[in-house]
Amino acid sequence: MLKKFALVLLVCLAITSLFACRGDYNTISNSGEKLKVLVTFNAMAEFAKAVGGDKVEVSTIIPDGASIHDFEPKAQDMAKISKADVFIYNGLGADPWAENVIKASSNDNLIVVDASFGASIIEHTEDDEHDHGHGGSDPHLWLGIKGARAQAENIKNAFALADSENASFYEQNFSEFAAQLDGLYNEFKEKFDSLEKKNFVTGHAAFGYLCHDFGLEQKSVMDIYAEGEPSARQLARLVEYCRDNNVTTIFAEEMASPQVSKTLAEEVGARVETIYTIESSENGKTYLERMQENLSKIYESML
Ligand SMILES: [Zn+2]
Repeated sequence: MLKKFALVLLVCLAITSLFACRGDYNTISNSGEKLKVLVTFNAMAEFAKAVGGDKVEVSTIIPDGASIHDFEPKAQDMAKISKADVFIYNGLGADPWAENVIKASSNDNLIVVDASFGASIIEHTEDDEHDHGHGGSDPHLWLGIKGARAQAENIKNAFALADSENASFYEQNFSEFAAQLDGLYNEFKEKFDSLEKKNFVTGHAAFGYLCHDFGLEQKSVMDIYAEGEPSARQLARLVEYCRDNNVTTIFAEEMASPQVSKTLAEEVGARVETIYTIESSENGKTYLERMQENLSKIYESML
């Protein structure tokens, strides 16, 4: 299922060259101004803040509470792009409008980051149970620990390019963030490896990369695009799956129809636990706090 996926990492929209951008951004750091960073949704903002610290000013296009999977940009979003130094999007179809917005903006000096560049990608086939004919890649790279690390590294490289004077600052912040991610990975790899049970049931199929990191399996009430309430027959199949696999916890998200998760939980006598998809900001918690909570809850649900 894993395929190498290659897209252009840094598209410097200046018709000239990357070096033209580099020159421009040196001027910015000399004047002590913060790098203006625009991102599509919350996880990208978290990585940008972790790497950029107080040298960046981050704003997010998709408002909290809106689903990333059916967002349409407005004219005011275009205006924001025209003033940004760096624009970060997830790619893989999570924010498919981003490339059009970039093309339509007249910001010739913008440094664009496809955060998923170079990462190992999970591909879905046309007849995949949870795909409903979309085909293509699973976009939820940020919800895997290794995916998050790869995305933060791409962001670090872009900041170092945009503001080369502070390159070592970004490098240091990235190293610290990566070490924390590695710590979380090592802690939970050992825990999950010690378990017999490896499956969990969630709201929408957002945890494919997390499953790949730890050798787990997700079943979900909705597909990877958070589309399509399950039919009576699908729900009946999920009920059967939960009973067969002794599922005691159904995870629910705010965005992906928690009512269906509740119905399923009641049907099989399971409890409902919240899980973070980090598509919106959630109770002001950082990326690491939310991943730690997600992993703890998933682990406990398998005991
Ligand atoms: Zn999603």
